[in-house]
Amino acid sequence: MKKICVVGTGYVGLVTGVLFADLGNDITCIEIDQRKLTTLRGGKSPIYEPGLEELLRRNLEAGRLRFTDNYDAGVPDADFVFITVGTPMNHDGSADLKYVEAAARSIGRALRKPSIIIDKSTVPVGTGDWVTNLIRAEAGDKHFAVVSNPEFLREGSAVTDFQRPDRIVLGSLNREAAEKVAELHAPLQAPIHITDLRTAEMIKYASNAFLATRISFINEIASICEQLGADVKEVARGMGADKRIGPHFLDAGIGYGGSCFPKDVLALHHMAASSGCHPQLLQAVMDINRDTRRSFINKLEELVGDLNGKTIGVLGLAFKPNTDDMREAASVDIINRLLELGAHIRAYDPVAMEVAETMLPDVLYCATAYDVAKGADALLLVTEWNEFKQLDFDKLKRHMRQPILLDGRNVYEAADLEARGFTYRGVGRGVKRAERPSNGKVAQAELVEA
Ligand code: NAD
Repeated sequence: MKKICVVGTGYVGLVTGVLFADLGNDITCIEIDQRKLTTLRGGKSPIYEPGLEELLRRNLEAGRLRFTDNYDAGVPDADFVFITVGTPMNHDGSADLKYVEAAARSIGRALRKPSIIIDKSTVPVGTGDWVTNLIRAEAGDKHFAVVSNPEFLREGSAVTDFQRPDRIVLGSLNREAAEKVAELHAPLQAPIHITDLRTAEMIKYASNAFLATRISFINEIASICEQLGADVKEVARGMGADKRIGPHFLDAGIGYGGSCFPKDVLALHHMAASSGCHPQLLQAVMDINRDTRRSFINKLEELVGDLNGKTIGVLGLAFKPNTDDMREAASVDIINRLLELGAHIRAYDPVAMEVAETMLPDVLYCATAYDVAKGADALLLVTEWNEFKQLDFDKLKRHMRQPILLDGRNVYEAADLEARGFTYRGVGRGVKRAERPSNGKVAQAELVEA
């Protein structure tokens, strides 16, 4: 049993604290947001994450987990102190490190015994050295070591990702400290990669940038498919069967969002550009992501005409299913643009509406997908929640002013929807009727886009 302190109880910190408690450790979580503290002390999770609340309650009741805003109640006794505060983006694209700085200084002031400070927040390469200096400035000659331990959990499956990680990356200039952190993770039985501090920090950015690149890649292929009459879903399936490629992150749609990919690709771009590199691939990844959302709206305009005064229904608001996280969600860009164009928006999401209301106040929030459809000139599928996969389309159609469905996640099959009388568009799903081979100049009349 180790004494662990976790600073910051967002998606990463809360999962880290609760699940290390569940492994039998003694955990103190430090949080500065008083509303969150009250919620957490009452055994409720401030975020929607499947399985988390039950584990939170179990470990609170077992007395292995507590929440405080007082660093002196957690840091002095801790063998390990995790930094899991947010690192949002600055206006220039760089990572904003003000929360990391405040946490590091507070930890430094509260240190009493030799401890290992573990940075789990996603931070620019070189931050570990800077954090070491900040703590040193506050802690004087007290002994401590800093280890970078980037987090790879996915919102929506964070509990199982913590319990069964693909790998654990530990970076430090102090090998002994990294090995102690490796021992802490031993019950998870995951492969452990020990590197220097900067390399560990880079592994996180490179991983997220690569996954975002795959998404933008398949979205570029989707645009080409639409022009040439191929079906990107089948293309991705065919590509993904190749073991060198694999099937993951090859879903064409309206692009990546969330609290990590957009800010991490941008921060890596910023780091690269400000150190004299020319990150042209990262730039293209971001440009394509922006364009996928624009072309989705263009398609809507092609089908509905002038959007001024039209009613558009939006199914799904969270940046992906199984989370209530709305940070950088595609829905925010799309809805804001539709509002600018004069559309009225009705929307429904199974869990994210409370968060969405604060960001998108001009939307009419509905109780079900069928309410969204009432009087709608078109429906947009934005987040592929399971409950949207088997809707009663005849019922939806009866509610709509005109049965138009734009599928931003390629969940539905054109033939099914068209058989029910819908006009349906997916992303990158052109079906070529022409027999002759194409050199890229198939006449528009020969294409029926699905
Ligand atoms: P978050 O914004 O949800 O949570 C951060 C928490 O830290 C908040 O509750 C905030 O009140 C608290 N906090 C801020 N300053 C504090 C301080 N000085 N002392 C105590 N608490 C403080 O953030 P998150 O989504 O959990 O992300 C945390 C970090 O992990 C980020 O760097 C992020 O990029 C990275 N990350 C996130 C995910 C994810 O899926 N969310 C996945 C991997 C990595």
